[in-house]
Amino acid sequence: MKRQRGHKARLCLTPAQTRVAEEQGHAARALWNLVHDWWTMLPKERRNLAAADEAIRQGRKDLPWLGSLPAQAAQAVLKTYFQAWKNCWDGRAQAPNFKARFHSRTAIDIPQGRDLQIARLNRRWGRMWAPKIGHVLFRWTRNLPVGKHADKDNRVTGARLVKEADGWHVVFRVRTEMPEPDRHTGPTVGIDRGIAKPLALSDGTFREHGPWLTEGEAERLRRLEKSRERKRRARKPGEKRSRRLTHTYDRIAQLRATAKRRAVDWQHKTTTSIAETFSRIAVEDLAVIHMVKSARGTVETPGTGVRQKAGLNRAIAGEAWGRTVAMLEYKAAERGGLVVRVPAPHTSQRCSACGVITPGSRESQARFVCKNPACRFEAHADTNAGRNIDHAAGQAVSGRGDLGDTRSAKRQPPTGPPAA
Ligand SMILES: [Zn+2]
Repeated sequence: MKRQRGHKARLCLTPAQTRVAEEQGHAARALWNLVHDWWTMLPKERRNLAAADEAIRQGRKDLPWLGSLPAQAAQAVLKTYFQAWKNCWDGRAQAPNFKARFHSRTAIDIPQGRDLQIARLNRRWGRMWAPKIGHVLFRWTRNLPVGKHADKDNRVTGARLVKEADGWHVVFRVRTEMPEPDRHTGPTVGIDRGIAKPLALSDGTFREHGPWLTEGEAERLRRLEKSRERKRRARKPGEKRSRRLTHTYDRIAQLRATAKRRAVDWQHKTTTSIAETFSRIAVEDLAVIHMVKSARGTVETPGTGVRQKAGLNRAIAGEAWGRTVAMLEYKAAERGGLVVRVPAPHTSQRCSACGVITPGSRESQARFVCKNPACRFEAHADTNAGRNIDHAAGQAVSGRGDLGDTRSAKRQPPTGPPAA
């Protein structure tokens, strides 16, 4: 089984290399904007890859600053731009737009793996080559298929240098060939993205975490955000952003990056242990993106609950669910397991023991008590929901007789728990 995966490592750049990298990053962003500008001006019938390629070639001659971007990185910008349109046409993303100076990620693509010349120097450091930047060091935290360990199926196929709030990183694209795993024989599980608990499993256990920032860090973030608002208000229209405001933005971004790194770390540990334990993992099929969007609304018509959802934790939780499911999917597949996304209406109101839906069964936020006098099932509300999700997946899979396809399950709402 083939596996394509990203591996991120911290880069160690000299001040001179950092300058070159920043220059390239800005050139890549400017090129994106140029292509976007050019593309949106062009009549529809002339919008094709060859015309864009030609425009870039001409641009490299006419615009000297564009020359600081290696040719292959420029090609990668083009490719990413067209992919962005493809994603939009396929309904996966919004239409590409201009990349603003402060609100976009600075990144440089190195699309060819063989250009990278990756070598391990010692236990902690590796070395790679980047066009026009030269040899750079990166933290070696995982074995990469390079040198004599590399072959056609196991190799690094490319990389991307990205600037984040806490410095430059490299993301390697790693392709590996793994033996097909034996079918997982563990128990099944349903996971509810709980209200009271981050993850509630149908076996009655929970996966929890503390706040991502310490008291001190959270307090510092609050102060920085206040200071940012003050400085924003003091700024006159058309006035350039002050160095101090930029510095404040940077420090806010750093704290948010810290919080996200800790969240992702927790997710990795949690999803690995779940994928190791369970064979069929059922999750609720939520269109998270749409949920978050509708909560935010627009300036004119703000969505409901905007205040509560605006916080950092809400933001992380919002994007976290999609990431949790994605992690579970590839980790389960590697271990012979399966993730089933099920539509699970009434997961919180349905009794997972008798199947009766009683609106208002949820007596408190945390406790589910069945109103059916013959049943009286009691459980943690999120555990009850997790059990419903597990049952829904069981019905979807057995009703279909096909483990792989869960699409048919979407049209088939669960009717109750399976007969034991
Ligand atoms: Zn019941």
